[in-house]
Amino acid sequence: MTAFKTLDDVDVSGKRVLVRVDLNVPMADGKVTDATRILRILPTIGEISEKGGKVILLAHFGRPKGKPVEDMSLAPVVETLSDMTGKPVAFASDCIGEAAASCISKMHDGDIALLENTRFHPGEEKNDPDFARALAQNGDLFVADAFSASHRAHASTVGLSDHMETVCGRTMQAELEALEQALGNPRKPVGAVVGGAKVSTKLDLLDNLVEKLDVLIIGGGMANTFLVAQGASLGASLVENDLLDTARSIMQKAEAQNCRIVLPTDGAVATEFSAGAENRNLALDAQTQLADNEMVLDAGTSATQAVVSEFSNLKTLVWNGPLGAFEMEPFDRATVQAAQAAARLTREGELVSIAGGGDTVAALNHADAAKDFTYVSTAGGAFLEWMEGKELPGVAILRR
Ligand code: AMP
Repeated sequence: MTAFKTLDDVDVSGKRVLVRVDLNVPMADGKVTDATRILRILPTIGEISEKGGKVILLAHFGRPKGKPVEDMSLAPVVETLSDMTGKPVAFASDCIGEAAASCISKMHDGDIALLENTRFHPGEEKNDPDFARALAQNGDLFVADAFSASHRAHASTVGLSDHMETVCGRTMQAELEALEQALGNPRKPVGAVVGGAKVSTKLDLLDNLVEKLDVLIIGGGMANTFLVAQGASLGASLVENDLLDTARSIMQKAEAQNCRIVLPTDGAVATEFSAGAENRNLALDAQTQLADNEMVLDAGTSATQAVVSEFSNLKTLVWNGPLGAFEMEPFDRATVQAAQAAARLTREGELVSIAGGGDTVAALNHADAAKDFTYVSTAGGAFLEWMEGKELPGVAILRR
């Protein structure tokens, strides 16, 4: 039995099931341009419908700040939802009140309806009890299936649980099980790649990870700050000089916790921040002195090999952030090679690999590696808060 209440714990038949999903899909000219998020929620919708529950979808779209905004309506999603579920999808122009009640009163068991953007009401983001009560009038059971929104205590992610039985949907369940496998109860040794631009956005994450990991591989612009903290002088590289003490204390904490920190031993150094910029491979250590116009834009060849060989000793890998400025060739090389190595080890059954966070998904897709990872989370903020060791309010309500 999982630690969370799931669809296996409830009987949905004949019930009005409020299902909180993530429909924050990319749209252009009123059409869905990327349906990945819809694809992910199909198992939950299909199962509830097949079991004879009325599927009532709740979601937000964009940031309308508590009032109706025409181009943030969920209406354009109906067509794609209907195509993908293979069923008609009814739409209510409001998620509470008369419009919602009338739409739901016409539903038969197994039908699907979508209610308008929850954030058109100020009570949503305030988790206002009156608004949660108004939402709750439309349902008998609450199924939380939007992990990506579970770091926010809103009426439709948390408040509803005060009014009715609450379980997670299949998408949320898969995400929670993957995350549990990665940091909750991982096969050891467990390591992480933490890369990307800045230390400042990932302080809490580093602080939590060093308590849990055997190896922490630091890459990207973040690694520069750590190298400078050790004494290097890195010219025009991205460095957060106000965080040198912080970087040192993270290294000290890691040592005390027996977490080995791996920094790049060489880098691709260029004088221009642009695709195709001329560059050289240069050894990096505490003594490195770059010229004022030089910058490290990627991990070097030895550092990349070292990352790959670290991977081969791990049983579990968590990945957030690229190893270099991967959007510009050739500075995508370390990220691509390392991602492909993790993908191969995962395919071979040697590694459990979990990745997440906005740019990470793009980087792994660029390396054509995402499909082989054990799990790739498309949740940005929620994935990072989970990596920071925080209890997410929308997950707390699902615990047994
Ligand atoms: P984050 O959102 O923190 O994961 O950062 C991702 C961004 O970091 C990407 O846009 C990368 O281009 C950038 N990045 C990674 N390594 C470097 C580097 N060495 N110098 C400058 N930017 C980098």
